[in-house]
Amino acid sequence: MIEPIKVLFMASEADPLIKVGGLGDVAGSLPIALRSLPPAWLEGSRVDARLVIPFHAAIRSKLEPVEKVAEFAVEHAKGPILAQVYRAEIQNLPIYLIASRLFGAGEPVYTSDNYRDGLKYGFFTLAALRLPQFIDWKPDILHFNDWHTATGPYLARLDPETALQNTPSVLSIHNLPYLGGGSERALAELGIPPSQDERLPEWSRSMPLPIGLANADRIIAVSPTYGEEILTPEFGCGLDGFLQERRESVTGILNGLDQKSWDPESDPALAACFNSSQIDLRERNKQALVKNFALNPDPRLPLLIIISRMDYQKGIDLAIDALSETDDFAWQAIILGTGDRTIETACQHLQEAYPERVRAVLKFDAQLSRLMYAGGDMILMPSRYEPCGLAQMIAMRYGCIPIARATGGLKDTIRDAVDPGSTGFLFKEARSKELAVALTRAFRYFSDPIQWREMQLRGMQLDFSWQRSALAYAQAYRSLLENQP
Ligand code: ADP
Repeated sequence: MIEPIKVLFMASEADPLIKVGGLGDVAGSLPIALRSLPPAWLEGSRVDARLVIPFHAAIRSKLEPVEKVAEFAVEHAKGPILAQVYRAEIQNLPIYLIASRLFGAGEPVYTSDNYRDGLKYGFFTLAALRLPQFIDWKPDILHFNDWHTATGPYLARLDPETALQNTPSVLSIHNLPYLGGGSERALAELGIPPSQDERLPEWSRSMPLPIGLANADRIIAVSPTYGEEILTPEFGCGLDGFLQERRESVTGILNGLDQKSWDPESDPALAACFNSSQIDLRERNKQALVKNFALNPDPRLPLLIIISRMDYQKGIDLAIDALSETDDFAWQAIILGTGDRTIETACQHLQEAYPERVRAVLKFDAQLSRLMYAGGDMILMPSRYEPCGLAQMIAMRYGCIPIARATGGLKDTIRDAVDPGSTGFLFKEARSKELAVALTRAFRYFSDPIQWREMQLRGMQLDFSWQRSALAYAQAYRSLLENQP
């Protein structure tokens, strides 16, 4: 029996215990998928992944820990901070929860104060690296995620007490622009010195994510294209020059989708469930939607949807302009989203300008989103950047065709209508004119129900399983271990 690859996976959030964004999806799914990989795919080996997250106050009511496994203090300039570690298990995945006064009642997962978040996640990372000593389980690989735990690769190297100085580390980049700026003083108070790496721009040497980028053995972006884009000035957040120097160590692996939760065949939120052999039933979802929103029930009118955080990143402003520019076509649109007030107001204005055809629903509504994926004909995703993107994968699985900017994970998951095997419509530059052209192409395509149906079916049959992503991660771990000095 070959020894398993032991992976300590550290993150600030993990679904279903606690989820704020896409990182929660990944941390909730990937370690379980890694553990479930068949040994036959790994030359007889398997992955013993274990998850470490903070014991956020909001988790306490959801989970009964099995046992307390450790208690120790982490040094801080104003006096030691106590860490208490509990063990729990979900679907056979061992989860270690680090409790501390820093994750006390009322403390949200993230605040707008990076000193505060820097302190709690700097502490968490230090504590997570101390944990293996107490559980008699020494990891072969350390896997960190985003700026919150990005000091980890550096700390493992710096701190002989962890006994992890030669353990290879992976840093996943879910969203590069969040460098953790503002947390410098908190790191200093925890005794984490700035990086001495002269390849890093000077302004970045005290920030957690750049420190991690300089020290991780492998940097993995959440899609292959985003992995390339972060090497360029447009997406590199001032670190592109540095990342270029490390390009040999930078790759991208596409996130998976929870295909059980997102399944049109069994989704209880739908007006009618369907699959690729009964796709006609899909139309009932469109009927339910247009009825709910008092839109025109004519099935020949394309129904566009947007389901998104209202953030400049997502390019909703481009969608609003492009819709106005294509109003010769009789489209209808439902926009679901919340966030930035200016963008929300712009959506409201679009509804006022087109009261017969636009509905702006400015809230977070998971149930409604499901019906929209099932009933919408096309989803708009004109993102300025998109590290991976889940919405387009869900949409394709539900037979809703994406019209998206060719960036990051959107480019990796959608094939444009000009290609054989196409599943959507892509445009290059973040300009409303280009989106308007893609929209026009989509409207023409939609007017031929046979070719539209074929495109829907191709999208529905794609495999976005976590198993695929997990295999790619396992291969990355193996190559790190094989290339160890
Ligand atoms: P990001 O993580 O950058 O917000 P993704 O496309 O990766 O973008 O994931 C967004 C997820 O959040 C999708 O599952 C989408 O359905 C969901 N979502 C976004 N806004 C809303 C909303 N207002 N109501 C319901 N679900 C939403």
